[in-house]
This record gives sequence, C-alpha cells and structure tokens, in this order.
Amino acid sequence: MKIDIAVPTYRGLLNPQAKNAMDRLLAYSNCTCFTQNAALARQMFEAIERAGRKPVNIRLPQHNPFHNTDECPVGKHSIHVIPQVNACVIHWARNHLLMNMRKDADKVLFCDDDIVVEQDTLERLLAHKKDIVAGLCTKRIDPPEPVMRQWMDEIQNYGVILQWQEGKLVEVDACGTGLLLISRKVIEDVGRAYHPKEYADHGDGFWFEFLRGPHGQEWGEDLSFCWKARRLGYQMFVDTAVTPGHVGEYPYGVADYLQYQEAVLAAGGITAYRRGEARKQVANWEFPKRTSDELVEVL
Ligand SMILES: [Zn+2]
Repeated sequence: MKIDIAVPTYRGLLNPQAKNAMDRLLAYSNCTCFTQNAALARQMFEAIERAGRKPVNIRLPQHNPFHNTDECPVGKHSIHVIPQVNACVIHWARNHLLMNMRKDADKVLFCDDDIVVEQDTLERLLAHKKDIVAGLCTKRIDPPEPVMRQWMDEIQNYGVILQWQEGKLVEVDACGTGLLLISRKVIEDVGRAYHPKEYADHGDGFWFEFLRGPHGQEWGEDLSFCWKARRLGYQMFVDTAVTPGHVGEYPYGVADYLQYQEAVLAAGGITAYRRGEARKQVANWEFPKRTSDELVEVL
C-alpha cells in the first residue's frame, strides 16, 4: 500500500520525542527489502558474470526482495514523507501537504509535530479498513481531555466525548487531526465538493479552513474538515486503543485523563477535587495567615 505521511511543522521542527517515535514507525512499517538485500544483488551479478553460459548456483531467499515497495510480500508499505512545509498558519500547512502528496497514494497519515506515536500505529489504524480513522489524542494541558466529539442538537455544536468503551473502535462525529489516517477518496471528494474550481485548476482543495457553526462560533480546522467529510456521508472512527502521547510539559496521554477522572470521582466531584488541589497550593508561610478554606473562597 502507498502511504504518505504529513507532518505539519508549523512550529519549526519536530519535537525530538515525536521525531524518534516517527523514525521507529518508519523502520517498522516501511518496505526496506531492497536495501536490506543489496548485497544479494551484487552476489547475483558476480555469480552470473563468473558462470558465463553455465547455470548459476546461488541460493535465493524465500521472497524476492527486489519488488515494488507497494507490493511487498512481507506486508510492509511504500511510505513517503511529504516534504515539510513550515507554514505559520496550521491550515495552510495541512493544505499544502495534501497538495504535495503522491497522486496515487492510497492513504495519508497526518501526524502532528508533537505527537509521540507507537511504532505499530500505522498498521493498527490500517487494519480497520476505514476511510477516516484516528488515534485517541488528548489535549496537552491539564486536564488532558480526549480530542473526539459528538454532535449535540441541543447546543447545535460539538460536545467533547468524555466516556467511551476503552480499547474499542468508536464512531464519532469529529476528531482531532493530530493522528489521523484518511483515504485518497476522502481527500479527492472533499476537495471536489467544496472548492471544485480551485481543486480542478490548481489541485488546492482547501481541505482545512476555519468554518463557523450555526451560532457563528468559529471551529478549528480539524472540526471543519470533519464537518465537511461527514456531510458527504463519510463515517469517522477513533481507535481508542491507539493512544499516542501529546507533548506538553510531558507527553500527555489518555491514561492521564483516565487518572484525572478517577481522582475527580474519588474526591466526590469536580468542586471537591478543585478544593483539594487548591489546598495543595497553599504554602506554609507565616504571612498571610489565611486558612486554605478562606483561600478557596477568595479563588
Ligand atoms: Zn518489501
């Protein structure tokens, strides 16, 4: 399969932890049969040259290592990292990357420059055979809420999904684009449907842009993309077992969010939890002589 990887590097460089993780993913999923067997090519050439017209006696490996990378007999892929753009505006970076993908790529994996992936992330997302499937990213601040949403008619907007079947593939109405696998079909359809002229003339589908919701509230480029794709009838899924880190003060992950939820429940609700956290902040100074409860009142 042909997979293009899109890393919008709008902050300049990949975070070092994200870079190392991406290198491991590439080593795990990319077909490197040819380079690993380069010595065999030389041995074969020399054996044939030596043998002249006589039959050649050389032991061949089980699989022919000299194949097109998208037809790898051991199941690896032809992976191309789209040349990086350094745009200061995130949706320009994302659109530019899609304009520069291989025209025959089967899928594009968006991975932000501060997302720390597991090495088998690509294989696990591909296994679902969906047009749109994401890993379960979280915010990179406290509390690290998961970035997956559900449309709520009552508020005419998306609400954050805070409870889900852990480890399952769940269908959502919108998700973040921090770690998102989409098929070429979606990319072509969204480009053609919403910006047909620009897409036909310059290949620019303006896939990512800031739309406004029914009440005029501005949506991020990720929600806007999801809204456009859902409107064309595409379903979107989040594999809640794919749990990358999102680098803030440290790589935040969904485990941190679940721990936070537990702590809130154990404290007896969000107010009690915040009160407890505020108490921790109270230093043991002589002055001012306020009790922690008074401080909480001030807060
Ligand atoms: Zn191969």
